[in-house]
Amino acid sequence: MIITLRQDAGFDEIQAIEKKLHSLGLKLVDVTSQSSRYFVIAGMPNLDIRSLADLKGVDDVHIVSDTYKLVSRKWKLNSSSIPAGLAGDVTPIGGGGMSIIAGPCSVESEEQLIQLADFLVSQGVKFMRGGVFKPRSSPYAFRGLGIDGLAMMASVCRPRGIKIVTEVMQVSQIDPMLAYVDVFQVGARNTQNFNLLDALGQVTTPVLLKRGISGTIDELLQSAEYIFSGGNERIVLCERGIRTYETASRNTLDLNAVPILKDKSHLPVIIDPSHGIGIRQFVTPMALAGIMAGADGVILEVHPEPEKAASDGAQTLSFAEAEICFGKMRQTHELLSSWQ
Ligand code: PEP
Ligand code: MN
Repeated sequence: MIITLRQDAGFDEIQAIEKKLHSLGLKLVDVTSQSSRYFVIAGMPNLDIRSLADLKGVDDVHIVSDTYKLVSRKWKLNSSSIPAGLAGDVTPIGGGGMSIIAGPCSVESEEQLIQLADFLVSQGVKFMRGGVFKPRSSPYAFRGLGIDGLAMMASVCRPRGIKIVTEVMQVSQIDPMLAYVDVFQVGARNTQNFNLLDALGQVTTPVLLKRGISGTIDELLQSAEYIFSGGNERIVLCERGIRTYETASRNTLDLNAVPILKDKSHLPVIIDPSHGIGIRQFVTPMALAGIMAGADGVILEVHPEPEKAASDGAQTLSFAEAEICFGKMRQTHELLSSWQ
């Protein structure tokens, strides 16, 4: 159950609501997000919700039977639009548009970033992705430039009006990253790092939450609930391929997840066809398929010289390939919008 408090609810009114819930034997989680304050009650209490809805200070009461509550569409029918960027320069993700997030797997050099940023500006793309803390299967692989790489990314992207999407791997990185990041990415290996999710609930910066390599849709939504229940409602879900028995592709991009997530949750859903299929020549068709399935955007790996990329070159698009991909994605989105 979710009880949304009125914005103008007074201290005494809130205390009376808490008292009532306690008298009914209900345990609540008190959540204050960017837009509202909620009392979330786990389980399915057997009571007439009018007895709560009539209390002063209560705006609305919803019964949500899912294991996740605040990210569920059962209480919020309208799709959420997530504002990314600093005040005065905000670009929404979700809400009917088609977001493109493009850039290298790893940040490598200033020259690489400048070429990429200029390319993105020329393409009207507002978000650059690029990892500086890289989760690598082998400890001997390139593991990123760290916070210096992120500062470099900001020095290139900020003057060009490009927003930064980058992965955070552990709680201690959040603070030093905050000043530079427009969207924190939680990678597939950290989808169930609950300490990290809790900590990201404490910031106001949006979070792009990837689905775990072997994670179910329900688990992804419960991970998103960690962030929202911590107080940060700015969450974008990302399907990036799951591990199956198939070996012909790096992962299996689960396009089923797109309409299912959009039905279960009000949060925007984007897809990552680069990691989803892992093969450069098939990235664009899968990006288009994701848009057709209803995705709110796509995150793609792009590099000035993919064959020289420090990581994931085999799934990375060149500028020429990316330009074609962006054009086709926009056409696909327009076509889809014309049907709705
Ligand atoms: C990435 O985006 O470069 C990455 C490591 O993604 P994932 O967590 O989906 O593997
Ligand atoms: Mn990558």
